[in-house]
Amino acid sequence: MSEALANLLNETRQFPPPAELAAHANVTVDAYAEADADRLAFWAKQADRLAWSKKWDEVLDWSNPPFAKWFVGGQLNVAYNCLDRHVEAGRGDKVAIHWEGEPGDTRTITYADLHELTCRAANALTDLGVTAGDRVAIYLPMIPEAAVAMLACARIGAAHSVVFGGFSADSLSNRIQDASAKVVITADGGYRRGKPSALKPTVDEAVANCPSVEHVLVVRRTGEEVAWSEKDLWWHETVETASAEHTAQPFDAEHPLFILYTSGTTARPKGILHTTGGYLTQASYTTHAVFDLKPETDVYWCTADIGWVTGHSYIVYGPLSNGATQVMYEGTPDTPHKGRFWEIVDRYGVSILYTAPTLIRTMMKWGEDIPAGFDLSSLRLLGSVGEPINPEAWMWYRQHVGRGELPVVDTWWQTETGSIMISPLPGVTAAKPGSAMAPLPGIVADVVDDQGQSVPNGGGGYLVLREPWPSMLRTIWGDDNRFIETYWSRFEGMYFAGDGAKKDDDGHIWLLGRVDDVMLVSGHNISTTEVESALVSHPSVAEAAVVGATDPTTGQAIVAFAIPRGSTDIAGEAGEQLIADLRNHVSKTLGPIAKPRQIMLVPELPKTRSGKIMRRLLRDVAENRSLGDVTTLQDSSVMELISSGMSGAK
Ligand code: ATP
Ligand code: MG
Repeated sequence: MSEALANLLNETRQFPPPAELAAHANVTVDAYAEADADRLAFWAKQADRLAWSKKWDEVLDWSNPPFAKWFVGGQLNVAYNCLDRHVEAGRGDKVAIHWEGEPGDTRTITYADLHELTCRAANALTDLGVTAGDRVAIYLPMIPEAAVAMLACARIGAAHSVVFGGFSADSLSNRIQDASAKVVITADGGYRRGKPSALKPTVDEAVANCPSVEHVLVVRRTGEEVAWSEKDLWWHETVETASAEHTAQPFDAEHPLFILYTSGTTARPKGILHTTGGYLTQASYTTHAVFDLKPETDVYWCTADIGWVTGHSYIVYGPLSNGATQVMYEGTPDTPHKGRFWEIVDRYGVSILYTAPTLIRTMMKWGEDIPAGFDLSSLRLLGSVGEPINPEAWMWYRQHVGRGELPVVDTWWQTETGSIMISPLPGVTAAKPGSAMAPLPGIVADVVDDQGQSVPNGGGGYLVLREPWPSMLRTIWGDDNRFIETYWSRFEGMYFAGDGAKKDDDGHIWLLGRVDDVMLVSGHNISTTEVESALVSHPSVAEAAVVGATDPTTGQAIVAFAIPRGSTDIAGEAGEQLIADLRNHVSKTLGPIAKPRQIMLVPELPKTRSGKIMRRLLRDVAENRSLGDVTTLQDSSVMELISSGMSGAK
């Protein structure tokens, strides 16, 4: 970005919290003032929500930036905080996980069950020679053993590196090698799209190139035939026969908890390192504050996969440290029918739902009749994460899932931040559709221009974090220099998130997509997000992706790809007409500068395996280049569809 982002979108709708929720909210407006008055005291108070074996001597050591140490000298065990202390407090019979497999099989796991399974797994890993400081790779479907495996590692002080089950043998192998993992925990397979999807063959292929791996623990999930080597051990013969007695040892607050490789939307994956005390403090507090979680009455469901950071912080560590009852679902949202998510909400009485814009837009494409066919009256709070949520998708979510009355919290954060950073507080904030609103109490975020100067209200630029936070990444595994270069070199003394953002006239923050995706059209920096949101605000569009393609007159020209909503007719002339309408609609909504040069109607968009749009591939298409790296693409046939259609586009 050579100059500040143009600020095109003008969204004025605003929705205050429901009175009932506000009256009983876990966190009130006072939290902001409290954190402003003494940020470190505020975080110390949140750390006190956890059980520590030894109290810290110092809240933050920032004497060697950007290498932070939080709760210096303190000791705790993460698994103890997520399990033992609930059991010891007499809540062992409380359901921790209502699990549902894709074929419809179910398991009900109490805190006592989860504790027992975790103790057995901790003993089994110890017997296999895993000790504190070692790394364990986890490559599992969404089954309870995934949470057990993570908690067992945490319990014995081994850092886990969870790799999403959709990644290839190469990606898995690179990640295992980068962390020198000693053990891999996997399954024969899982269920996806109505059939078993094998995992073990991928692990076999990956491990062949990983000399560090001594054992592979295999959960039997699908019962499909698998190849077997001398490194392989069945989970049910190893873990389930191990002793259920295990005493958790405390670890230093800065002991490594996990490594998680970012999804690779933009570049070579980075092994993000998180540690123990600060991470759990913020993951736990934000679950309590942002979701207003009431462990006695709520049923919480985060639809992410544990292979992403959202699954780490908001399926495993945040909810379990708070003693929540949650739903965990193995499969895809349209198996065996497009109402599967709503059926699950209905069946378990889900009250808090946390999902991603990509899913909301998919549901929009399928039509509102589908959620309308289920009883969603148990819901009381909705959340979104992963990408900017277009105002129209936000409205659809509130209207058709939230009965037109539930708060929607749009939560901005990253693998690197470990926990939610910018979000409405559901009992406090009058939210605007499409805005993450304000930094949470204890977080100091800002939007700055090229020179690192804070932009005034109404301005756009780069999102930065001005002060360290407890769940910040500590480094990139094995590469301190890349850590400094990537995040701390763009602006002196600030963390550079890599996202564009603007402040509206009230000072509220709007995320505008990745800095790499910003377009430069006739000398104006225009955000892809705003043009996409304008397209999605047209009643015939469910989802859109926009890129800047080289143009001889304007420098870059806007090229858009749009997915029509369910019943839209796009055959022949109707399609031509819709494209013309859409170009005018964008021009009217945002101004003529944002009018796309070209719009293509497509059935799907290229997405990463975590569901984010991969604009760089669309840029390749728009500029007639051969495609760049497609290995993190969810479905590579999508690109063929789009490229072949492109030749006929105008
Ligand atoms: P990589 O860094 O390897 O390219 P990634 O950034 O997609 O991968 P994540 O850490 O999972 O990996 O995603 C964080 C990014 O997702 C943020 O930097 C931002 O671009 C986007 N994001 C997440 N939540 C929001 C949100 N609520 N609003 C806008 N953008 C969001
Ligand atoms: Mg990123």
